[in-house]
This record gives sequence, C-alpha cells and structure tokens, in this order.
Amino acid sequence: MNLDTVLLNGKIYTMEEEGKSVEAIGIKDGIIQFTGTNKEAEKYSSEKTIDLEGKTVIPGMADSHMHMYAYCQNQALVDLKDACSIEDMIGKMKEKVAHTPDGTWIKGVNFDQSKFKENRFPTKADLDRISTRHPIVIRRCCLHAIVANSMALNVAGVGKGYDGGSGGIVEFDKNGEPNGILREQSTKIFDEIIPDPLSDAMEKRRIMQNVFEDMSSKGVTTIHTYAAKIWNYEEDVALYRKFGEEGNLPVRVTVCLDELFEKEVLTEKEKNDPYRMVQYGAYKLFTDGSLGSRSAALQEPYSDDKDNRGFVVCTQEELNEKVLKGYENGLQLAIHAIGDAALDMTLTAIENCLQVTREKGMSKEEQEERLPFRIIHVQMVNEELIARMKKLPLVLDIQPIFLCTDLHWIEERIGAERIKGAYCWKTLKDEGLIQTGGSDCPVESFDPMKGIYAAATRMDFDGQPEGGYYPEERLSVYDAFCLFTKNVHAATGQQDKLGTLESGKFADLAVLDRDPFELDVKNLLEIKVLKTFVAGRLVFVL
Ligand SMILES: [Zn+2]
Repeated sequence: MNLDTVLLNGKIYTMEEEGKSVEAIGIKDGIIQFTGTNKEAEKYSSEKTIDLEGKTVIPGMADSHMHMYAYCQNQALVDLKDACSIEDMIGKMKEKVAHTPDGTWIKGVNFDQSKFKENRFPTKADLDRISTRHPIVIRRCCLHAIVANSMALNVAGVGKGYDGGSGGIVEFDKNGEPNGILREQSTKIFDEIIPDPLSDAMEKRRIMQNVFEDMSSKGVTTIHTYAAKIWNYEEDVALYRKFGEEGNLPVRVTVCLDELFEKEVLTEKEKNDPYRMVQYGAYKLFTDGSLGSRSAALQEPYSDDKDNRGFVVCTQEELNEKVLKGYENGLQLAIHAIGDAALDMTLTAIENCLQVTREKGMSKEEQEERLPFRIIHVQMVNEELIARMKKLPLVLDIQPIFLCTDLHWIEERIGAERIKGAYCWKTLKDEGLIQTGGSDCPVESFDPMKGIYAAATRMDFDGQPEGGYYPEERLSVYDAFCLFTKNVHAATGQQDKLGTLESGKFADLAVLDRDPFELDVKNLLEIKVLKTFVAGRLVFVL
C-alpha cells in the first residue's frame, strides 16, 4: 500500500492501555493504516516520511466542555489586566489599532490604575495617544468606571456640561470639558452604542481563525462547544461548516445547544469520514449555579453561609419533563449540575426518563444504543449519589483546572466532611465512571495540558499545596491524559474512531517535545506541542 504519511522513530503512545507505545505510524486518506516498529514500516511506501527523532506522540487532545463563541467575543476586546503602567496600557491598545479599520470601536477591559506605576486614572488625553481615528473606551476591572477618548465622547454626545443622569458621574477638567472618566450609571451610554464586535462578519472570522490556530498549537483536535442563549453565546453550525468546506477548520467541532433541535442523522459513510469536522452534539439543560457565587444547590447549607443552600433553577417536574422530551426527540442530554442537590435532581430526572420510556415501550436494547447522558461539572458527590450514578449510562464532563482556583476556598465553603466528595476524580474513576476533561473556556484556559496538570497534581499553577490538595484523589498521568483524549469521544459515541492511535482510526495526533509519562508531574506545564495533525493533515508546526 502506498501511504500518504509515515512517522518514524517516535515514542508513539497509542493510549489503548497504559504505557503502550510504538515506533512508527502510517496514515492514508486521513485514517491510521498501521502502527508498529520502524522495521515493519519499511513494508510501506509513502508520499511523505517524517522522522520524529525520538519525540513523543499522543492522540490529538479534546475539550469536552467550552464556549467557543463567548471566548471569541472576549478576543475582540483588549485585556488590560496585566498592564502595569499607562504606557503599557497604551501599547497594548495600539496593537489592536494596527488591524482595526478607522472608525471602528475598540474596547479594553480589566484595567486597574492601582497596578499602574503612575497610580492614577488614565484620561481622554492618554487615550487620544492610542488613536484619534477610532472611538476607544477602556473599562475598569470592577466594571464601575470607564475612560473614553475624544472620539468616543463625541460619538456618545458627551460634551461640555453633559448631564450624566441620576446615579452617574461624569468628570470635567478645569475648562469644563469632560476629561474622559465616567462612573456608575453614566457608563451605560457606551453599552448602548458599542456594537457586538462579532456582528462584523469579517472580524468574527478573523478572530475565530486565530482561536482555531491557537487550539492547534496546543494539540487540541476536538472541541465540544456549548451555546448559552441567556448570555448571548450563539453557536452557528453553518459557520463552522463553512470553515470546514474552505479547508480552514483544523479542529473537530461538536456543537451543543441549549434549546431543542432536530436530531442529526448520519449515514455510515458520514460516520466513517475522517474529514467530517462538524457535528451536532448534546441538548443542554441547567439545574443550578456555581459554588463560587454560592448558587450551586446543596443538600445541606453552605458551611460559610448557614442560611443558604443555593438554589435550583427549575422544579424536579420541569426537569423531568425537559429531559424526557429531549430523550424522546432522540437527543443526547447534557445537564449542568454542580452541587449535590442539583446532582440528585439530575439523577432523578434521568432515572425517571429511562423508566417512563421503558413503560412506553422502548426496549432495554434501544436504550443501550443511545448515547450516554452527560452531566456537566459534577463537583460534589457522596456515596449514595455514586451508587445511583453507577447504575446509569453516564459520562461526567469535569473541569480539573477549576480546582487550581477553588482549592483556596472550597473547604471553607462546604466543610471538612463534604470536601471528601468534591472533585474526587480518583474515587469516581475507581468506581468505573467515565470522566471527560474540559475547560469551560472562557472561564479557564482551553490548554489541555493545564487540565492534565491539574488532574495529575491537584496543585495550583504556583505548585501549591505541595504534594497536592487531597492528593489521594490525584489521577495518574495516564488517566489524566485519558480525560482529554479517548474519554471525550466516549461522550459522542466516537470511541471507535477517535481518541487512541490504532489502525482504522482517524489520524488526529500531537507531537510533543518531551515525554509526559517520564517527566516529573510538576513539569507537565513545560511540555510544548511541536506538530498537530488532524485527519492526517498537518495543521500546526512549531
Ligand atoms: Zn460552561
């Protein structure tokens, strides 16, 4: 057989089982045709041969839960959180000016003048140095104050003697002209007139393309992206498909929606096509909020807020009905549940759904053919909940990277007893539950190596606490990689096509500059991706 590409002299971890590696891999038409020794590879001729020079190869990595559109929206803004002086802030904003047409709004966010070495608020005079041909506003990290340049003030009609209205503050210089600083209610004028940066189709495409390229550079080959109508995170399947048709989509995209949609029916041919990049995923439902804001629904009150158990966003009956309706429409359900009470409610709805559909005549076999239910976050469990989960067809979409932040306050919030059932990845794994790795980006970085580090170390990015937070719940490096490779594909029923490097599977893989399985876990974050392939196509080279 004449192959398209052969990779030789590698340490190629197939991820079929812990430690299994081969030296060579052969690819044709987007599919892995062979794995084995260098010697065995000699049997094949190939268009292209790549000498890996002993480097490590792993399957392409995947993110099981993120919000692509929301992240792209953020990319349209200039993040000023690291700006350490007014000069620095101006420099960061000027980079944006360089590729923004005249007259287009530019918005900076997260500035904090207390971090500036000048230790003063910037004014319109500072912002006019960025550009006088673009309306510019920057918003303080607290969201309560903004600074505008002259053009932005003009466009907004903020001039001499402007009345900021009740609850608003507009500052003026000694000549009575606005100095650019607006506070509280008067900042709203800009929210009303600045358009959604992604409403410009060209800008949207440019940003999306950059984000996809960034993902490739981190070895990401699959994302599951979630719409959230309430926060205006739209997800446009047609647009992803367009990127694909044009050959500009280096990442497989599974689009999950938070409203009922028509089930996508794929032919065998489509399922077996390694170049099919875009598909519909799950139907998403919410049950509760978050632990950080004490809105996750708990069975007992918060340990640091004795009158509060958080809350659920719907009744059990409403959830049962929605789950059943989605399931009967042939859709896969993905349900956000963070607190233990929310998980209890979610499991009840799934148990109810399976029971009711059986009573209505669906066979056990038909149910077994369906994709698993997905539960998103699952941050608190206990023995009773684990026992129930084990009886159900589930995958748990977790975000190990959350622990890097949460470990600093989580025990105060839920107490010494319940902490044992929080983020207890090893326990869940040992109970046979499938966990998939995600980032919830833009909440956290989509760099999967950070999630793998978090799962394997349970330390924050400063290496604290040393040895890990409740280290008995650390995963092995292999299991941490499973979260971000093959487990994700179990969620979409594609485990026979993706997630390991075996003959017959789609050729999605990443070449690393060092071997993560032979490295001190503390150093996982130093690993660099050298090359990324999707369906045998090289989409990134360092
Ligand atoms: Zn999310």
